[in-house]
Amino acid sequence: MVTEQTIFYGIIIFMWMETIWGLYLSLRQRRIYKKAVEVPSELKEIVNKETFDKARIYGLDRNNFSMVKEVIGGVSTTALLMLDGLFYFWVLSGSMITSMNLEKGEILQSAAFILVMNTFNFIMSIPFNIYDVFVLEEKHGFNKQTMGFFIKDKIKGYIVTHLIVLPLTCGIVWIVKVGGDYFFIYLWLFAILATLFLLTIYPDYIAPLFDKYTPLPDGELKTRIEQLAASIHFPLYKLYVVEGSKRSIHSNAYFYGFFKNKRIVLFDTLLKDYTPTNDKSKDKETKEEDKKGCDNEEVLAVLGHELGHWKLNHMIKNIIIMQINMFLLFVAFGFLFKYEVLYNAFGFYDEQPVLIGLTVVLQFIFSPYHALLNFFTTSLSRRFEFQADAFAKGMGKALYLRRALIKLNQDNLGFPVYDWLFSMWHHSHPPLLERLKALEKSD
Ligand SMILES: [Zn+2]
Repeated sequence: MVTEQTIFYGIIIFMWMETIWGLYLSLRQRRIYKKAVEVPSELKEIVNKETFDKARIYGLDRNNFSMVKEVIGGVSTTALLMLDGLFYFWVLSGSMITSMNLEKGEILQSAAFILVMNTFNFIMSIPFNIYDVFVLEEKHGFNKQTMGFFIKDKIKGYIVTHLIVLPLTCGIVWIVKVGGDYFFIYLWLFAILATLFLLTIYPDYIAPLFDKYTPLPDGELKTRIEQLAASIHFPLYKLYVVEGSKRSIHSNAYFYGFFKNKRIVLFDTLLKDYTPTNDKSKDKETKEEDKKGCDNEEVLAVLGHELGHWKLNHMIKNIIIMQINMFLLFVAFGFLFKYEVLYNAFGFYDEQPVLIGLTVVLQFIFSPYHALLNFFTTSLSRRFEFQADAFAKGMGKALYLRRALIKLNQDNLGFPVYDWLFSMWHHSHPPLLERLKALEKSD
């Protein structure tokens, strides 16, 4: 018979195993940041000493920060669980409902619980966020946020998240309560519908609340992107530039949308010759070689890579994996959630709220499974990146894609030397050198 102690300490022990593993990997990578002071010979033509040094110091700073965060995160979660935090937050949610003169029911209390839990996590994360943006990123020249923008952005994020999450929570709890023996099937259908709905409204109604999306102005770049899309029958519907430079100058590009309504979004920081409407720092006086971003040929090569993801159905494959995974989790939850001992382990003796069952099973009991799944999807993502690169190469864009990758790595101060184990565990994109080598190979 599994006792509540076994479950509780099993969860805590696994959590610390994961934390120690993360720290071990970070220490391995940290040794590389410390040791690799000279530019390795195979990188001599790719990166100069100055950028290499800057990237090394930046990497080291981020590495230290992530280790501190990891330890504090582990300690605070352990403390929360040891002190029966979930139980007290649940009780607090109950009194919130009664104090507002509302009728206390499980669905409403679950929504209040989410609000209390998230608010607690939100407050706990603020010091880390402030340090990250205004100390760390600021020091390395990446931060473009003012304190006013930061505060407004966080509050907006908090409100929008809860407008979405609270109704979803109520829906989930309700389905489990009334769904009968096969509730997991309804729960799964509900999750699919909710995902599709959010994917549909996100670009038009949610993303614009946080960033400014402007149509790419007419000109050579626009015409050539349209030609590129047409050449492989990509149903390009609209082309946007997002002014990501209000937050940070890390750069990127992506596409989204269902069926015949595909949109491509380019970060303004990807484009060398684009000046954000509200930013005067990137004006014409900057010397040509100091300008950040890619020229048109390079941008087209990056898009060749992105279109590769589309042509090879990488998005759809990822969505299918996610849905299968979700179904399995819900089936497992359907078996486990009636075991009283799971609730006892977290201080619940008189009641077994659905939401607590979900949290315990999906977040804690399944954390070894999540760790494995994460490892699997990260390696899959690296494979997809190589395939998309190969696709761009097939379009005759190998040379410019190489140049773009080098340029973007420089702009983002990516450090090109990695510990293999750290990289295998964490990187959803293959390291720069491996990508360049694969692009070079003649077939
Ligand atoms: Zn990619």
